[in-house]
Amino acid sequence: MEDWTDYITTVKELNLYRAPVNYRPLDAVHVEAEGQKYLLLATNNYLGLTHSLAVKKAAMSAVEQYGTGSGGARLTTGSHPLYEKIEKKIAAFKGTEAAVVFNTGYMANVGTISAILNKGDVVFSDELNHASIIDGCRLSKGQTVVYRHADMNHLAEVLENTTCSGRRLIVTDGVFSMDGDIAPLDQIVTLAEQYQAMVMVDDAHAVGVLGRGGRGTVDYFGLKDRVQIQVGTLSKSLAAEGGYVAGSQALIHYLINKARSFIFSTALSPATIGAAYAALEELEKNPGLVDQLLMNADYVRTALVDAGLQVDGRVTPILPIMVGEAGIAVKMAEELKKAGLIVSAIRPPTVMPGASRLRLTVSAAHQYDDLKRAVNIIIAVSKKMNLI
Ligand SMILES: *Cc1c(COP(=O)(O)O)cnc(C)c1O
Repeated sequence: MEDWTDYITTVKELNLYRAPVNYRPLDAVHVEAEGQKYLLLATNNYLGLTHSLAVKKAAMSAVEQYGTGSGGARLTTGSHPLYEKIEKKIAAFKGTEAAVVFNTGYMANVGTISAILNKGDVVFSDELNHASIIDGCRLSKGQTVVYRHADMNHLAEVLENTTCSGRRLIVTDGVFSMDGDIAPLDQIVTLAEQYQAMVMVDDAHAVGVLGRGGRGTVDYFGLKDRVQIQVGTLSKSLAAEGGYVAGSQALIHYLINKARSFIFSTALSPATIGAAYAALEELEKNPGLVDQLLMNADYVRTALVDAGLQVDGRVTPILPIMVGEAGIAVKMAEELKKAGLIVSAIRPPTVMPGASRLRLTVSAAHQYDDLKRAVNIIIAVSKKMNLI
């Protein structure tokens, strides 16, 4: 008991304490808390589809047709008919033979990496990969070699110098979740082919964002059939919950029989899968949503950079404003909240010490007036805090 309290006291002193805040959503990008209305610049709901009428109706009709919970794991009785529909649709969207849905993106990464790597295998992992990739590596029986972020010379060096009797796997985020930059997937694939490694890309922040109609990084770089494993989530642009893996039919059969996070957890509810399916349909019908998203992101990025802020990342809707110390990030997020904006203060352990930042995310659902007001507030607060 005491240890737990001590830990909390310590993280509070370091400005690293965190607790969930409950917000009442008003629409895709506005929330209410304690009688105050806020604009969200911190949602992964990139296309605003959580509040699309078609998506909401699909969730409701799935409940009416099939009930609330799934009542079982996928390999027992939980695999309702919407699963077959969505897995086919994901495979078609990603341009692969097959796809399988996991309960979360987290579970897709953990289950896949631990299922495909055995003793004697090696995984090469970018140092800024998502925690779920790191946990998958930790859980696998293979060896993990971490390469410097997006550093292709270093990746080539470790591929050259690591002896491996079994499989080699290179794994990377497609769009890095805290930095908003795009992995050099074309160069990764070239190296993989040179060293006979498989490539796995996690497109959690790239689907609905990059590539034709938001198909993700493999499409963005034109690498069809050269990336063996594409992971993604149904929880960001696709407005629901769940994760997936898309790849060859053989890989998907293997994961279904081997990935423990797939096998030992109750299947997602009909409402969730119904919503995700409808969101994917909406995206296919309205590829202009992706253009709107990128235009909104460009508007905010350009305005902040012009004002003198250090905003890393290009193209994507993830805009990190680098501030360094955790305390500054927290203070700035508090000031922005007072002015009506919700922005995430990202601190260790999510990022390295000294790399704390405010992480803005832009959505296609943001109106121009909202973004203009947000930019003005951020610039005013940055001046007040002597960041510019
Ligand atoms: C959000 C995220 C995940 C986890 O997906 P969930 O469906 O939320 O569990 C995995 N990888 C990356 C890169 C992410 O950003």
